Amino acid sequence: MLYERVKGTYDMLGNQSVVFQNVIENLKRIFSIYGFSYGQTSILQPIEMFKRAIGTDTDIVNKEMFIIKSKSGKEYVLKPEETAPMIKAVIESNLIHGLEMRKLYYITPIFRYERPQKGRYREFFQYGVETINSQDFRRDCELIMLGREILKSFGIKNYKIDINSLGCGKCRAEYISHLKKYFSENSSHLCAQCKIRLIKNPMRVLDCKEESCKSIAKGSPKIIDYLCIECRDDFENLMKCLKDFKIDFTVNPMIVRGLDYYTKTVFEFIEIGDALGKQSTLIGGGRYDTLSSELGGKNMPSCGFAGGLERLILSIPKEMQSNMEKEENIDVFIIHFGGKTTDIAFQFAEELRKKWVRSEILFETDKIKKQLSAASGRAKFAIIIGEEEMKENKVVIKDMTKQSQEKKDFDIEEIIEYIKRGKDA
Ligand code: AMP
Repeated sequence: MLYERVKGTYDMLGNQSVVFQNVIENLKRIFSIYGFSYGQTSILQPIEMFKRAIGTDTDIVNKEMFIIKSKSGKEYVLKPEETAPMIKAVIESNLIHGLEMRKLYYITPIFRYERPQKGRYREFFQYGVETINSQDFRRDCELIMLGREILKSFGIKNYKIDINSLGCGKCRAEYISHLKKYFSENSSHLCAQCKIRLIKNPMRVLDCKEESCKSIAKGSPKIIDYLCIECRDDFENLMKCLKDFKIDFTVNPMIVRGLDYYTKTVFEFIEIGDALGKQSTLIGGGRYDTLSSELGGKNMPSCGFAGGLERLILSIPKEMQSNMEKEENIDVFIIHFGGKTTDIAFQFAEELRKKWVRSEILFETDKIKKQLSAASGRAKFAIIIGEEEMKENKVVIKDMTKQSQEKKDFDIEEIIEYIKRGKDA
């Protein structure tokens, strides 16, 4: 090998890519069922935006951004998350007028300079949604329902839903002063990084993975006890809504989500089986009511979530994955015998393709066995164009699943009808 794959990246070929495409198609279907439409932002983004939106005291901004310098010395970043770019794009394009609400989804590459391990890459895909310009707690509930539907549709059952409220600017300030006091009194047990966090952003201590910090965090004041009336009402309404829809959840005061832009509701879908190892968060999200105004737009309270596509795929039960791998990607494989039949078969494939019938033909051999073996598992039907059949102006249509076959008139419309009936049967 002359060149190796870049650390923390992967390529997607063969069966894996079939699963990947299937997962994306399914996600798109679920997003549209829930009323989300597609939004896309560029991969190169302004670095200052993330500093402002995510916060300078976060791992993403401090250590994980891939920074690119242009010839003129200007710095850009390969986007490390999608919420800020999406809100920036909405503001820039003036997409939302007045009180209008918009629901956008994305499936996009994301870049973070992290130590690679199972379920953690430097270049990976996030799927996610943003519900923009709505303050209604039912939107938070809707997101959690959507997350649940996504996991259900892939047969993923081993997970739990943790929720928390981070309050708003008003109530959080009071909470932080109590938290600071508590951690300062116990600072000798904190790791070196948390000693810095204690000064800059004490809430981040709550999600430190070091055992000593975790045990101190357990006894710390809980934000829930400091929520203002509005935040408390919203959180209680959300919990009632989730209960009404029979969604199991746990209030976990340690869920802080690590990015500065979150306000009020935050939630995580956490894998509790053994598919993901240490990287167990499947989906993370919450409210970010002030992000739009932070980025220079009008006030647009919003909420959303993001999940890692690779982690989603790793969590799909093996049986479902192999079913996805088997899925046919062609409707018709055209079998020829060489000579004139190859030309006719080629023309026929082209006719079928023009009518949106997915068709393939193997020019590289005229051996029937080889062609049929290439067709099996890929195509629902094989259409055999032989010398004998040509003389009668007929073709043989073979159902590759049932292994039955029939002779039919060489009439394109009739053949398409036959294939469509067979596909739906
Ligand atoms: P975050 O933006 O950090 O809240 O991440 C949202 C989701 O993206 C996580 O729950 C993971 O499923 C996924 N994710 C985050 N970082 C990575 C990574 N380095 N590699 C793969 N997936 C990731």
